[in-house]
Amino acid sequence: MKKLFALLILGCIVSCSQSPNQTAQLSSAFPLEHLDTNVHACDDFFQYTSGGWREANPIPETEVRWGEFNKLRETNKQRLKDLFNEVAAGAYSKGSDEQLIGDLVASGMDSVARNERGTSELTPFLVEVDGINSLEELFVLMAQNKFYGVSAPVNAYVRTDAKNSKAHALYVGQGGIGLPDREYYLRNDEESMGIQEAYRNHIATMAELTGISIDENAVYALEYALAESMKSRVEMRDAEKRYNPMTISEWQELCPSLPITQYMNELGLQDRGVINSAPEYFSRMESKEFSLETWKQYHKWHIIRGASGSLNDALEIASFEFYQKTLRGKPKMNPRWKRVQGSTGMLGQQVGHLYADRFFPKEHKEEVEQMVEDLREAFRGRIDQLTWMSNETKEKARIKLDAFTYKIGYPNKWEDVSDLEIDRESFFANMKNMSKYFTAKNLAKIDEPVDKSEWGMGAHIVNAYYNPLNNEVVFPAGILQPPFYNPKADAAINYGAIGGVIGHEFSHGFDDQGSKYGPDGNLENWWTAQDKARFDTLTKQLADQYSSYEVLPGVQVNGRLTLGENIADLGGLTLAYYAYKNWKGTKDVEPIDGFTDEQRVFLGWAQVWQSNGRDEYFKNQVTTDPHSPAQFRVSGTVSNMPEFRNAFGCEDGDNLKPLGEEITIW
Ligand SMILES: [Zn+2]
Repeated sequence: MKKLFALLILGCIVSCSQSPNQTAQLSSAFPLEHLDTNVHACDDFFQYTSGGWREANPIPETEVRWGEFNKLRETNKQRLKDLFNEVAAGAYSKGSDEQLIGDLVASGMDSVARNERGTSELTPFLVEVDGINSLEELFVLMAQNKFYGVSAPVNAYVRTDAKNSKAHALYVGQGGIGLPDREYYLRNDEESMGIQEAYRNHIATMAELTGISIDENAVYALEYALAESMKSRVEMRDAEKRYNPMTISEWQELCPSLPITQYMNELGLQDRGVINSAPEYFSRMESKEFSLETWKQYHKWHIIRGASGSLNDALEIASFEFYQKTLRGKPKMNPRWKRVQGSTGMLGQQVGHLYADRFFPKEHKEEVEQMVEDLREAFRGRIDQLTWMSNETKEKARIKLDAFTYKIGYPNKWEDVSDLEIDRESFFANMKNMSKYFTAKNLAKIDEPVDKSEWGMGAHIVNAYYNPLNNEVVFPAGILQPPFYNPKADAAINYGAIGGVIGHEFSHGFDDQGSKYGPDGNLENWWTAQDKARFDTLTKQLADQYSSYEVLPGVQVNGRLTLGENIADLGGLTLAYYAYKNWKGTKDVEPIDGFTDEQRVFLGWAQVWQSNGRDEYFKNQVTTDPHSPAQFRVSGTVSNMPEFRNAFGCEDGDNLKPLGEEITIW
């Protein structure tokens, strides 16, 4: 599933822009003080559209990145804060969404009880590891602790079968490292070595705070071996290479020395076939060898790590110091209410339920539906005019486009979790109960058909996604607000903003990976060999373009990691532009604030990416995030669009591709 960091919107697009008395409101849709007019739009469109904004909006101390996106998220957090306070103070029937969230939040906010208990609730888990006498026993324990959210070198979960999208399959793969990516272990420059040292110290600190001792160097060596065996993030993007069906015995043969069979038996999944997303990882692990004592210490570390946010202040602070301050550059910890709110993620559907009931105007749903259809229509037009694709493949592309479904706002039916046990006593116990409940629920799906009405994101979330297995685009209520969707803005701004987001998600169905799935969500080829080769040539050019971008001196964007998102940005803004042109037809649209309507489509897109970021954040982002940094989502995207060049009358520009060398994919 690709979560888009993007947004969406629309509303009264037609009536707003046709209403003559709304000029004042319209002009506020893109405040002019956000511009940096010392820079030319053709040279650096990101700085031009956000320089004033960036000056006026420094990054708060509790944030690593601050943009329009984050501001909207902050608004939603404040709304949820009030909502949570309300349900935490009330009495609701057991099993209702209000009771579950209210009691979870109340237990999380009870700092006195949490600090009094300290790490005592963790002790039984650690003592259990002490009693282990073989690697086989340890892997059985790892399977049991999987239900409590403890990560392990073996990962197993149920999701839609990529080659039979009506059924579920058991996926297995790599995992179990404590740093954000294998690259953090494998790099040997001075800065990376400093982070590795800080991580080892962090392991020792956390063990000490829990009252045990762990040999951090031995645990690190084991994690290094896992990291060295892993496929890279770029390799893991490849949907075909992730699809390796095998029996558990075949899987076990890849790595005879790891008790994989015992692990799967304990999960009750012994007779199942699996789809192995990283067979190479298991083969490579076969050459590594560690003592039972090191394995036990490794598992203890991950028990502690998995509980660091649900026990006392001391663990939370130590965890913040390493994972937030050292790794991402955040100077200051968030207040408790925000940390507790962040812990409600597993109840995302329930939180979304409360949010949507209270904050999503139902009429927005229809308006956004219309916008989605406008974008689909624009995509049809783009497919028709493509010069690099044959009619044969175009026909298949149209079939896929017509089959797209969408979800807007919130689910038609709410998930029932009324048998989940949450009370006001122990936050730690609540977190463990939730983890156990949802892990069991996921694994039990193996025998159930796929429910296409399920949502992969809470309705309150400021984000959107394309799910290739459902061939669907999804826009939660959380993102259907300004600056993404602004009922008071002119149509051009809305098409650039929410239209760009909708177009982005549509384009994911046709990016380098999404294009490998057919109209019914199955991994299947619908391309002629020649068209596929042409498509690959174009996408390689785009990858090379983004790999040439430097976000900080010496810190490069990885054009292959971000390829799917960059294709989606280019496709999305192009679709938004043509959807606007379709809407406009022969209408005469007056400029606003000196900007033509076509220019305002691009302002709408740029506005949602106005942001500042910390250096450490960018370093982490280029290694782990499939999205390019904001400046390239704006400048990199428009650099390939002759439509942008024409709208702003650019002869040439620092950011623009030379005339005729623009990359057009969709
Ligand atoms: Zn995306």
